[in-house]
Amino acid sequence: MPRQEPKIRVTNFKEVALGYSEGQAVREASRCIQCPKPLCIEGCPVEIDIPKFIKEIRESDFSQAITTLKEKNNLPGICGRVCPQESQCEKTCILGKKWEPVAIGRLERFAADWERKDIQSPPPQSSPAGGEEKKHPQSSPLRKGSHPVDGKEEVSGGVSSKQRIAVIGSGPAGLTCAADLAKLGYAVTIFESLHLPGGVLSYGIPEFRLPKEIVKKEIASIEDLGVRIRTDVVLGKTFTIKELFSQGFAAIFVGTGAGLPMFLGIEGEWLNRVYSANEFLLRTNLMKSYLFPEYETPLNIGKTVAVIGGGNVAMDSARAALRLGATVIVFYRRTEKEMPARREEYENAMEEGIEFHFLVAPVEILGDEQKWVKGIKLIKMKLGSPDSSGRARPVPVKGSEFHLPVDTVVIAIGQRPNPLVTQSSPGLKTGRIGNIIADEETGETNVEGLFAGGDIATGAATVISAMGAGKRAARAIDKYCRKG
Ligand code: FAD
Ligand code: SF4
Repeated sequence: MPRQEPKIRVTNFKEVALGYSEGQAVREASRCIQCPKPLCIEGCPVEIDIPKFIKEIRESDFSQAITTLKEKNNLPGICGRVCPQESQCEKTCILGKKWEPVAIGRLERFAADWERKDIQSPPPQSSPAGGEEKKHPQSSPLRKGSHPVDGKEEVSGGVSSKQRIAVIGSGPAGLTCAADLAKLGYAVTIFESLHLPGGVLSYGIPEFRLPKEIVKKEIASIEDLGVRIRTDVVLGKTFTIKELFSQGFAAIFVGTGAGLPMFLGIEGEWLNRVYSANEFLLRTNLMKSYLFPEYETPLNIGKTVAVIGGGNVAMDSARAALRLGATVIVFYRRTEKEMPARREEYENAMEEGIEFHFLVAPVEILGDEQKWVKGIKLIKMKLGSPDSSGRARPVPVKGSEFHLPVDTVVIAIGQRPNPLVTQSSPGLKTGRIGNIIADEETGETNVEGLFAGGDIATGAATVISAMGAGKRAARAIDKYCRKG
C-alpha cells in the first residue's frame, strides 16, 4: 500500500496510507481464489459477502462492489481503514496459511474511496449515498419534560409500523444499529452528547489514520436513510431512559461507549500538562488544535511529551504529539512483545521517530512551583508470572527509580464506561467495570425494551465489534417490536 514518507508525514496531519489505484485493486482482488466455503465472512462481525465484492472489484465493477459492501456495512471507508483485519476477516483467509492473505480491508477502502471520488467528480449532482450531502441538524438540548422528538420523522422503507426507536450514542455501535433499523423502516433518532456525531471515529482516531471528511460523508449516508441525529443531549443529564419510554419510543439502544479514562493514581497526576489520552486526542481531533490559529484552540505541550501505555490509543497520542512538534517518548511497563497496539501502528510510530522505553512504569510526575510538569520519575520493571490476561505480569525492580525531564504527560492506559449512563437508569444491571450487562447475541438488557452494545457492554474493544453488536441488536429490536 503506498504511504506518505515518514519524513514528510510527521510534518502534517494528512492520511498516512494512500490507498490502491484501480490497477492495484484489480490485481489484489485477482489473488482471491473464490473459495466455495469462504471462511473470511465468518471473521467479519457485520457479515459482508467478501468473496462477492472482491470478485466485483476483479471485474472492475466498482459500483456493484460498493453496493455489495453497503448491503451489510454503512461505514466501509471507515472499516477499510481502522478494522484490525489481521485478527478479523484476513485472519481466516485461506491464502494466509501459506502466503499473505488477500488485503480485504484495503479493497474495502478502495471501493468506498472510488465511490466518493466518482461522486465528487464534476458535475456533483448527488452525494455518495445518492442524495444531497447534508449536515446533521443542529439541535437544541433536551429539557426535562419536553418531547425529545417531534414525532414527525418520515423514513423511507417498507414496514408500515413506523415505530420510533431511540439510539443513544452515535459511535459505530449506535450508527450501525440506527442504519439497520432505518433500512427496516423504523423512525430512528440518535441522541448524542457531543456537538458532532461519530464517537471515537470523530474525536479519538486521528485525522492521519481516519480523515474526518470520510467520517462525515459516511454518517451523512446514514442520515440519508432517514436517521435523525440530535447532538448536545446527554443521557443522565438532559434526559433519562424512563423519559424516552414515556414519550413513546418503542425500544431504546444504548451505545454510549467507554469514554471514561483510567488514571495511574500516582503523585503529580493533576499537574498542568498532564492529559488523559481522551482529552488530548479530543483537543487535537475535535477541537482541531493542530489547525491553530485557524481554530482558536491551541494545545500547549512544550518540547518533550511522555506517553504512558502500549496500546493503539497510546500510539495515536504519540503520533499526534509528534505532529504537533514535540519529541515523543512512549513508556510501557512490559516488553515490545506484549504491547497490545496493532503491529502496523507500532511500526508506523517507530518509522516516524518516536522513542520507546520498555519495562518501565511511572511512579511520580514532577512539577515546578507553578504546578507545570517538569519531569517524570520512573521505575524499571521485570516480567513475572502471567496475570489474568495471560500476559506476563510486570514487577518493579527495587531501587531502580530514575528521572527524565519532560514537559507533558499523556496517560493512555485504558478507558471504561462512563457511570453517568448507568447511574441515571436505576435497576439496570451492570458488570464489574460499570458496563451494561447485555446479551451478546441480542443486546437485550434486564430492562424490557432496552438494548445495549459496543464498548458500553464489552468495555473498550474495536470499531467492528461495536458495529457487529449494533447490527445484532437491530435484528433483535425488530423482532421485539414486531412481537409487541
Ligand atoms: P464510541 O465510539 O465511544 O461512541 C459512543 C458515543 O456515545 C460517543 O459519541 C459519545 O459522545 C456518546 N455518549 C457517551 N455518553 C453519552 C450520554 N450520556 N448521552 C449521549 N451520548 C453519549 N478500534 C478499531 O477497531 N481500530 C482502531 O484503529 C481503533 N483506534 C482507536 C483509537 C482511539 C484513540 C480510541 C479511543 C479507540 C480506538 N479504537 C479502535 C476502539 C474503537 O474506536 C471503539 O471500540 C469503538 O469506537 C466503540 O464504539 P461504540 O459505538 O461502542 O462507542
Ligand atoms: Fe474485514 Fe472489517 Fe471489512 Fe468486515 S468490515 S470485511 S472485518 S475489514
